[in-house]
Amino acid sequence: MRILVFGGTGEAIDLANGLVRQGHQVTTSLAGVTRKPRLPNGHIHTGGFGGADGLFDYVSRNGFQYLIDATHPFAAQISSNIVEAAERANLPTFRLMRPAWEPSADDDWQTVPNISSAASHLGDGARALITVGRQHIEPLILYDSCQIYVRAIEHPEVILPPNVTVILERPPFRLADELAFMRDKEITHLVTKNAGGTQTAAKLEAARMLGVKVIMIDRPALPDANEVFDVDDALRAVADHSASAA
Ligand code: NAP
Repeated sequence: MRILVFGGTGEAIDLANGLVRQGHQVTTSLAGVTRKPRLPNGHIHTGGFGGADGLFDYVSRNGFQYLIDATHPFAAQISSNIVEAAERANLPTFRLMRPAWEPSADDDWQTVPNISSAASHLGDGARALITVGRQHIEPLILYDSCQIYVRAIEHPEVILPPNVTVILERPPFRLADELAFMRDKEITHLVTKNAGGTQTAAKLEAARMLGVKVIMIDRPALPDANEVFDVDDALRAVADHSASAA
């Protein structure tokens, strides 16, 4: 089958590689926001399509038979466009969605709806590790009474005030390193999106162990779609569809 995987996550890479191994013709689509992305096997499309209309045109023109949304849980616009384009093109589709993180009884989480709201929870003197990516961080770096550590894969494009330090690192992150960093920098707050998954979860365990307050940005609402929760289930869903269509 000709399959279009919407990527930007580690799961999308594993999925595309698995689908190529199954013998499918796979194109992975990337937004083009990361300068040196890790790339899966198969074809790569880089850049937006021009909304749901443009995406519908693209999938129709290129004869795709299956669309898989393996984007990040916070990439709400493209997920919505995929649902709309698949419906109009009458193509099978599903979303590969990591389960959200859930707090345990020992966690100290404040759940907030967005980055601006997260910023309002950083009081004077806070020492915050910010792990929301490099985009849209402006509200979090405005407080000069806080010490801010922004951890991201690439450098933010905004001019940063002197109380902000950038740490360029790529997941996965290990518990021992997270503990060492939080202890060393005397972190009081961790600001994170509820991305889910295992690659970046060690920071939550470290925060729990050290009594660091977690400001957890809740996931955006997405339109209804069939969902699977891991790469193996995604590969099985495609194999089942392929077998029933044969
Ligand atoms: P978004 O707000 O949902 O999408 C904005 C626009 O970017 C879309 O309308 C689309 O442009 C284009 N786009 C997004 N993902 C694309 C893809 N995989 N292939 C082609 N075009 C894409 O997305 P975002 O939150 O900016 O995220 C962009 C990418 O980064 C996603 O692929 C996502 O998986 C990855 N990512 C996001 C986050 C996050 O926290 N948001 C974290 C890690 C990785 P057109 O309308 O022109 O088609």
